[in-house]
Amino acid sequence: MRREKLRVTLPAVIALGSNLGDREATLRQAIAEINQLDGVVVDEVSSFYETDALKPEGVDLDAPSYINAVILVRSALKPHELLDALQVIEQAHDRVRLERWGDRTLDLDIVTFAGLEQHDDTLTLPHPRAFERAFVLAPWYEIQPGADLPGRGAIGPLLAATYESPRLIARWTP
Ligand code: ATP
Ligand code: MG
Ligand code: MG
Repeated sequence: MRREKLRVTLPAVIALGSNLGDREATLRQAIAEINQLDGVVVDEVSSFYETDALKPEGVDLDAPSYINAVILVRSALKPHELLDALQVIEQAHDRVRLERWGDRTLDLDIVTFAGLEQHDDTLTLPHPRAFERAFVLAPWYEIQPGADLPGRGAIGPLLAATYESPRLIARWTP
């Protein structure tokens, strides 16, 4: 029997964002790299959406806009192992952390992991700001309209309560 058949996987939702460089190409490469991780399979990919940059002081029309997408994965990695692997991919795309919510080539956030609600210094699940972000909820709703955000409820009403409207700019083609 093949060994991987016995590996337990759990579902997770990952949000991707980029507002520097060739944003679409970076997201496509990152999705391929996530799918190549040992113990992670990408099952679904949303369309790509464009959204104005959000800074701590509000929408910043002077900053380059973002392209965002959401993917559904199955992970044999534990939550912190998945976070570490995603951060390696961010680094490989020259992610630099200078200021909070600063411009970046690639951001990979774990939105949910198997319905877990947990918090420590490096990982909060579900992602604490996903519930109010149209750029997460809109692509997620496209590929999993019946999904729940643990502790917050169905994502449809959460999306309806947001103010931004991400613009669909490209359908996903593998
Ligand atoms: P935001 O979290 O508001 O989307 P950001 O994505 O720009 O902001 P980062 O600089 O990418 O923030 O991450 C800062 C830290 O957040 C990471 O080093 C990581 O340890 C922590 N973190 C906590 N929970 C999560 C999560 N669910 N997904 C990704 N990173 C997380
Ligand atoms: Mg983020
Ligand atoms: Mg992040």
